[in-house]
Amino acid sequence: MVSLTFHGGVNEIGGSKILLEDKDTRIFLDFGQSFDFGQDYFTGWLAARGRNGLGDYFEFDLLPKIEGLYSQEQLEGTEMDHCEPEIDAIFLSHAHFDHMAHISFVDERIPVHCGEATLRFIKAQETSGLSKFGEHDYRTFKTGDKIGVGSLELEPIHVDHSIPGAYGYVIHTSEGAVVYTGDLRMHDPMASMTQEFIRKAKESKPVAMITEGTRMAPEEKRRNYSEQQVCDICDKIVSGTDKLVVMTHYGRDIDRFMTFYNLCKKTGKKFVILPKIAHLLKELHNDKNLKMPDPLKDDNLLVYFKRKKVYYKWEKEFMPKKVDADYVHENQGDILMYLNFYQFGELIDIRPARGSHFIHSMSEPFSEEDIEDEVMHRWLDHFGFEFHQAHASGHASKEELVEMIKEIGPKRIFPVHTEHPEMFRERFSNAEMVEKGKRYGLE
Ligand SMILES: [Zn+2]
Repeated sequence: MVSLTFHGGVNEIGGSKILLEDKDTRIFLDFGQSFDFGQDYFTGWLAARGRNGLGDYFEFDLLPKIEGLYSQEQLEGTEMDHCEPEIDAIFLSHAHFDHMAHISFVDERIPVHCGEATLRFIKAQETSGLSKFGEHDYRTFKTGDKIGVGSLELEPIHVDHSIPGAYGYVIHTSEGAVVYTGDLRMHDPMASMTQEFIRKAKESKPVAMITEGTRMAPEEKRRNYSEQQVCDICDKIVSGTDKLVVMTHYGRDIDRFMTFYNLCKKTGKKFVILPKIAHLLKELHNDKNLKMPDPLKDDNLLVYFKRKKVYYKWEKEFMPKKVDADYVHENQGDILMYLNFYQFGELIDIRPARGSHFIHSMSEPFSEEDIEDEVMHRWLDHFGFEFHQAHASGHASKEELVEMIKEIGPKRIFPVHTEHPEMFRERFSNAEMVEKGKRYGLE
């Protein structure tokens, strides 16, 4: 009567798409895009043909063929007919692409539930022209809300992750509670939110737990700090130099942004950010709960404009805070600048003094043959930067995951968002080796 089918996030980190069915009620938990989506068949100029909607993806089984899920536009030209929605709702855990990007294919009549901050991320992404997710019937919730959908009742509970507005769920079904972790971490700065989720999940005495397992791996090759350690390492670099400091982090890692913002406040340096981040910040600033600085009013923030002929309307809003390469060059000792790899061309104009610092505040590359990583280091060497690595993961460690599962004590465990489900099985005899597309009945 109640079942789970995993259409993504199986043996991979990302791409979570979990179908929960209870009698006639059908919902998806997350509807994300895999990090390597389509890469086995499309590369470089050989891309999926947009005009063919989902047809090119269906050809290679890259998306599940589910009736009453996709929009008319996406189904045109495919062998599937567009029909009345047969999915009652989609519930997003947070605004990372691997959990939500494929809502762009979904029928706009299917409601999309998410936290308020998630909707702000989606809107900021759209207004800056970076992504299009389509028109949707968005419905926002907060912790403490209970949302009824057919025979289900969902309780979203905030968790700590590297993006604001991340939630786990306790879902009351006809066969008992199902809990879903989304992505979460426990090491700071808001670990108490995750603890609250764990407490509520435990109280629900779940018949099933769907858990992320990003860091469930035989060995952790990458250095992982806590956010406080990242802060301490970067504080030493920023306070201890009279040269330019350039840093890069994931655009949506708002905790990291705040770590660097606070360092600038403390040291009196100016934080030079790109218009894209200023735009997102402006959107998030409107959510008073998040306590984000206003990029237009905050004295610590300046916005870097590349030399180009025309600026977008959303960029122009930040003209009052505009600085350019010459400004950065002339004031390099007083600046902490955000610059991602794809904008490295700006270094040619900025002409940083040798011995400037570069802080790589994101994951280390997956492999030693990472071409972008090699190119990045070549550029940094060329300009005489000193390189620093400082990153804290957005995910719970292996040990924390095990502790969490023991504490919650579910009847059955469904590991997703992991490359090592077998490691759950080794530790828990009730853990499933989840297969993609297989329907798991719960009773
Ligand atoms: Zn995430």
